[in-house]
Amino acid sequence: MAAFRFEILKTDAATGARLGRCRTAHGVFQTPAFMPVGTQGTVKALTPEDLREMGAEIILSNTYHLYLRPGHERIKGLGGLHRFMHWDYPLLTDSGGFQVFSLNSLVKVSEEGVQFQSHLDGSRHEITPEKAVKVQEALGADIIMCLDECTPYPAGHEEAERSLELTLNWSRRCKDSHHREDQALFGIVQGGMYPDLRKRCVEALGEMGFDGYALGGLSVGESKEMMLGVVSRAAPLLPSGQPRYLMGVGTPWDIARAVLHGVDMFDCVLPTRNARNGMLFTKNGRLVIKNARYADDENPVEPGCSCYTCRHYSRAYLRHLYLAEEILAMRLNTIHNLHFYMTFMGEVRQAIAEERLKDWIKTCYAQGTSEEEKDSGQPDPWESTFPKKLAGNRNSASGRAAPVK
Ligand SMILES: [Zn+2]
Repeated sequence: MAAFRFEILKTDAATGARLGRCRTAHGVFQTPAFMPVGTQGTVKALTPEDLREMGAEIILSNTYHLYLRPGHERIKGLGGLHRFMHWDYPLLTDSGGFQVFSLNSLVKVSEEGVQFQSHLDGSRHEITPEKAVKVQEALGADIIMCLDECTPYPAGHEEAERSLELTLNWSRRCKDSHHREDQALFGIVQGGMYPDLRKRCVEALGEMGFDGYALGGLSVGESKEMMLGVVSRAAPLLPSGQPRYLMGVGTPWDIARAVLHGVDMFDCVLPTRNARNGMLFTKNGRLVIKNARYADDENPVEPGCSCYTCRHYSRAYLRHLYLAEEILAMRLNTIHNLHFYMTFMGEVRQAIAEERLKDWIKTCYAQGTSEEEKDSGQPDPWESTFPKKLAGNRNSASGRAAPVK
């Protein structure tokens, strides 16, 4: 019997949001789910116990980094990635493709695969679809990803189409070379910002038949409106019985908006990376801990937050640690930010279960924009991507997110 099973517990009639449960060889995670990113086989500054305490049920690790160092064969010899990193719960690895393209300048793509020089020591490597699967089988994550070419942005229709064909070819080869039955294999939808190409990719991948589907090639420089425009069109086309994963997105507000279109899984470095840079998420927007206004502030980061950091430390102390470049600053800030994300996802799931997602999201949006979005001086991103069903008789302009062609 296959280890992987996805079950939809509830679909929100008004929006398309789904409440689900995903069973893997290392246990269950609830969806919509946010996956903290553990690039090097560790979510920076935290232990697995910290992650479980804040409610993380699945985490992501990057194949590219582990392949280069310490090496997938070594990790396999040490009992696999779960054992190596002491995380005995659901785990997802990416294919490594995205990092190959984003971290290296000397990248050569051919029909066969992608050649690159290591960003660590300049050594030469080639990743083919077969090798991406082999490396991920050695690491042993519960969910693994097909090798894809992340279509650059901006890309013309012809370029995006060529890239899409390559991704489809690679996806087929990944599927053919994948043998571990305790691992789920997800396909990745590319197609740039073009609805016709995205649709074609969805259909072709659906015919191949994967355990889940990801939307890739987003958050690569396009506007939020454009990103959510692609998500709003592509996500509902995906096979409804499998999980849908939006890669590399995003802020809590981006996530909430994608959930409305039926996306089930997310990952992003924002909560962890921002924490290390002293930027903390709160319901009232972002808080920059180094600001002088917190020098004598005895309040926790977010009054009412039940995380370890907020239960024990003041903004003044966290500001001091940050300015003194103490290691503890990274740890305490990361605990708060990930706790914020996990709590946020729990509230999203609760709201879907209680059929009040619309109202809940309006409330959280009003809070979340108070500093963060308004300070940016950008037009209200929520309004322009508000699903028509939700917007009622408002002059919703979801059509404005149409990709340029
Ligand atoms: Zn907190």
